[in-house]
Amino acid sequence: MTLDPTTMLIIEAFVLFLVGGLTFMAAFQGGRDRTLLWAAVGMWMACLGFFLGAFRGHDAWQTPVIIVSNMLFITSHACLWTSLNIFRGKPVQWLYLGVGAFVWLLLCQWPVFFANANWRTAGYSALSLVYIGACLMAVRPAWHKSNPAALAIVLFLTLHGLFYLYRMVASPLQSAVWRTWPDFALVIFEGLFFAVSMSYGILMMVRAQAEQNYRYAALHDALTKLPNRRALFERGASMLEHARQDHADVAVLMCDLDWFKSVNDRFGHEAGDQVLVCFSQVLRECADKEHLPARLGGEEFTVLAMNLGPLSAQALATRIRMRLADQASRLPCRLTVSIGIACAQQIDYNLDRLLACADQALYAAKVSGRDCVRIWPVQVTQAALDASAAISRDGAGAAPQHPVDA
Ligand code: GH3
Ligand code: MG
Ligand code: MG
Repeated sequence: MTLDPTTMLIIEAFVLFLVGGLTFMAAFQGGRDRTLLWAAVGMWMACLGFFLGAFRGHDAWQTPVIIVSNMLFITSHACLWTSLNIFRGKPVQWLYLGVGAFVWLLLCQWPVFFANANWRTAGYSALSLVYIGACLMAVRPAWHKSNPAALAIVLFLTLHGLFYLYRMVASPLQSAVWRTWPDFALVIFEGLFFAVSMSYGILMMVRAQAEQNYRYAALHDALTKLPNRRALFERGASMLEHARQDHADVAVLMCDLDWFKSVNDRFGHEAGDQVLVCFSQVLRECADKEHLPARLGGEEFTVLAMNLGPLSAQALATRIRMRLADQASRLPCRLTVSIGIACAQQIDYNLDRLLACADQALYAAKVSGRDCVRIWPVQVTQAALDASAAISRDGAGAAPQHPVDA
């Protein structure tokens, strides 16, 4: 079977047009994705290049077709590189985007080069190879972030690069290759395989990252970037289940900033936000890798600490209080925290129960005068309740203020 080169070129152009169109439509699903847009532009450039290539049989057209179609092919590789660069957050580098096609244009002005089809194939392949290499460099960060589609893209790019390397080296050594059957068919099929697999790979990579971003947003607090309540319950349940099986110690620390409302009232909501970010940093610094710090909401934070008995949990709580005290220079006023602790061995390996008991302990810390740590079970004395009620009464009608600053 022999396929007519012109037919093959038109089929390739048609497929690239469709693939580019699908990539373009995908770029506008749920926003405007520039990575996919540039990939689509790259596909359409190659589509135009193949379409023009179908006219190279006409004598009058041959020279402009050879020059322009190869400029389009080289730039389509450059667009792919731009697409991958945008994916990793880099801006469009217009100069490098066009330089490949410009070098090709210059080479074509050299009669010795232009007259020799094998040299032209080698020159075009070399310029495309530079962009393929740049694409591989650009996709590396996504690969390191273990985006599975990035691995497939690296594979497709490597195969494509090896093919072009072979063409670059073999062309000057052979005569009349790549323009006749079956070599020409190889070029066409390789191009089809590369275009389809790359557009699908880039689409998958973009989708995987979007999914990662949505998941991150669903499980983290937007202000402090700490895990949120949902993450605490999602990850906490499996952590507690493992601990139950091993009969391991687990402690829950419930932390509530003291008189936080007065920070907002006196210094503004923005200053209040900065305080929350600062406290989240304190928790991160004090927690180790077996601890799960989270923001429950408002100025309430929790730490789910694995392998931590009552004494160590109290030591951790004291460390948190001390570290917060050290942050004076970063805070608008002196700030303290009250902490309630509940331990699984005394209660249950159940997060709801642990949080409820830690909350009771926190309440005891608050009525005991704040800026202290209490551990469940707690007994709240009548004297402490009276003292707490007196502070609340004093603050009635006005914003309650931090006793030290009031
Ligand atoms: P206590 O010592 O009894 O805990 O008193 P408090 O003032 O810390 O507690 P209260 O529950 O009276 O006030 C909590 C305040 O936290 C009220 C709310 O406006 C503020 N808040 C909640 N979420 C945020 C936030 O994301 N940013 C800021 N700036 N303020 C917040
Ligand atoms: Mg509170
Ligand atoms: Mg508070």
